[in-house]
Order: sequence, then structure tokens, then C-alpha cells
Amino acid sequence: MATQLGEVYDVSQGNIAAVSTLWDDFGVITVSQDRSIRVWLKRSTGQYWPSVCHFLNAPCTSLHVNKHHRAVFAGIETGTISYYKLSDDLNVLESVQTFNAHSNAAVVQCHFCPLRNWILSIGAEGNFVWSELNGNKLGNYILPSKPRCFQFDSESGFIFYGDDSGRVIILRLRPESKIDPVITLEGHQGPISCLYWDSSAQKLYSSSSKENRVISWDIGGKQGHFIELNGHSKPVQLIFTHQNSLFTIDSVGNLIKWDLTKKRKKCAEWTESDSCQACNDPFFWNVKQMWTEKKIGVRQHHCRSCGKALCEKCSKLRTTIPEQGFEFIPVRCCLGCYESITDSDRIPFATSHQLPTDVVLGDIDFTTKRLTILNRTKKILLFDLAAFL
Ligand SMILES: [Zn+2]
Ligand SMILES: [Zn+2]
Repeated sequence: MATQLGEVYDVSQGNIAAVSTLWDDFGVITVSQDRSIRVWLKRSTGQYWPSVCHFLNAPCTSLHVNKHHRAVFAGIETGTISYYKLSDDLNVLESVQTFNAHSNAAVVQCHFCPLRNWILSIGAEGNFVWSELNGNKLGNYILPSKPRCFQFDSESGFIFYGDDSGRVIILRLRPESKIDPVITLEGHQGPISCLYWDSSAQKLYSSSSKENRVISWDIGGKQGHFIELNGHSKPVQLIFTHQNSLFTIDSVGNLIKWDLTKKRKKCAEWTESDSCQACNDPFFWNVKQMWTEKKIGVRQHHCRSCGKALCEKCSKLRTTIPEQGFEFIPVRCCLGCYESITDSDRIPFATSHQLPTDVVLGDIDFTTKRLTILNRTKKILLFDLAAFL
């Protein structure tokens, strides 16, 4: 369903830190370890050649492109962000401004906010910095933990960042340039690899590099509700929403489209018990009951639907539960729940599609419906997603 449009392969760039899909001429921008920022355009031969190759002062670590403003921001290892304008013909990258955002620490991620005309960034030293486009630094905030990625809501001033230990932390940037902590969302294990803020739905999506699930946090609902989406068998590398769908791509190239109009339920909380809640057999740590009933303790499992603590024999059934985000891979279930789930309940809310590549990083442009992927062999592949969206 995803048609391949072309590929860029140039190992001389070293490791590519980020890619961005350009809006016309099937273009791509890359920033990489060899300090270069390159614009690649598809020639009439079908091959990709760089129309721009510009070298910065240090290896590049991040890239942000605003298509509407033709603005390109490249962050480097020594903490500087360079701001460029890309010409209409995509052949000239004109330098506009340089921001000394982070002192001698790599720019982990940078983001341009067109509403405020700010450039915001997080650095490897753990600071969040925001500046005006003329280079005037507005603030510098020391984050309470090591940031991996962030999102910014320009209207409310909410900053969402994912840290090294699996937490998603929400801060609020006040008009007087003061930052207040709002809440810490705990749910992931392992470093947060992706965060995506859908401002119209007021939902935040997150994934971690040690897990295969995506969590959808209902920020607008203000109740701390979240839903787990469990369709992937490898960690998720890319998250986007478009219209009423969520798109997630994992490290082995499985692309899942989740229908967001479907009503989903929170995952069941796992019950704590010393014995099976169906047959009452003691779990192996319940020495007292094992002794009085002369029974061997058994391992504890949980029904994914109701959350009851059960022994293996009372939870050996498996089913998908799309309503709770278990879309394709059947999960452990008790007899009662299994019988209450009908065949129509098992029809997935999501569709999946296998891309012919593994995925290290990537970018989607929804205007042109093009997906750019960097894979482990350092090849950049372009896909047309029109049929899938
Ligand atoms: Zn049992
Ligand atoms: Zn159950």
C-alpha cells in the first residue's frame, strides 16, 4: 500500500541525525555527523542529488523544518542552533541567525513555534531554552531529569518532555517567562523515544525504546486517564496523527493506523491477591495457605480484560481486545471475560501495513502524503502513503 518513490544512499555523511520530508520536488533534508546539512532533490534520471550541501561547525544532532515559513533549524553537538531560509527553488539555504542555546552540550531537539516566533530546544546538559528569532534568549530552565524529546503547545504554554527513565513530565511556561511543574505521568519503562502532542484533541502520545506499546494520555480530560495501544511487536519509532487517525511505525517497519473515532477503554488495573481469584489456589509466596491446604503454590498471571489475579490454568485462553488497545496480538484472558467478548468485539480498530525496511528514524509530510525513513544500513527511503492515509 505504501509505494516506494526513491532512495538516497550516501554513507560518506556518516550517521544521519535527522531527516525531514520536503514539500516539493520529492525533496529530503538531512543533517549528519559529518557536520553537513544537505537538501536532496530527485533528478529527471530518478536519482537523488544534493542541491545544497552546507557544513556546520560540529556534528549535527537535530533538525526542525517549518514548511510554511521555509525555515530550517539545525542543532549541533556544541549547543548551537543555526536558522536558515530555504529558497523557493530549494537550491539555496540562506543563513539567517545563530542561537547559542546550550553551552557545550548537544542540541537534543529544537522546535520553531510560529505563533510566538520562538525557537525552543532541549540540550544534553538538561536545559530547556527558548529564544526569539532575532537571537534574543528569553529563558533557560534546568529540567528535573534528563530530556529525550519534547513537544510544546504554543497556545497554553505547556511543555511536555520525555526523560531517560520513562517519565513524561508536563511543565507550563507562564507569560512572565517562569516555568511551573504541572504533573509527572508515569507509565513507561525505559527512555521515552517519541512524544507527539495532538493539540486539537488535547491528547499526548508517547512510546519508549524498551517497550512495544504506545500510551495515549488524555490531557484535555484532566482526569489523568490514559489508554494503552498494544499492536506493535517492536518499539515504536514514529508517532503522528492525521485527521481521525493515529499513525505509529516501529523499528521493524510495521506501520499501524489507529482509528481514533472508536471508543477505547482504559486497560484493567492488575489486582493483587495471594491466591487465584477463580479457583483459589495459593500463589507460590502464600506459604501459609500452601501449608494449611497442603497445596503447591502456583505462578500469578493476570487477565488483560478484567485484571484479576489468576493461576495459569484459569487464564489459559487468549484473545485480542481492540477496545482496550490489544489489537492484533492475542493476550491472556480468564474464562468469564473470554465468553463475554464476541467475535465482533474482536474486529480490530486498527490496520497494519509492513514497510519493506527497518526504521531508525523518519518523518511524514501530510500535505504531500510522503514518508521518509532512515534505516539501519543508512539508506533513506521515500514512500507515497496516499493509499494508506
Ligand atoms: Zn486458578
Ligand atoms: Zn477476566
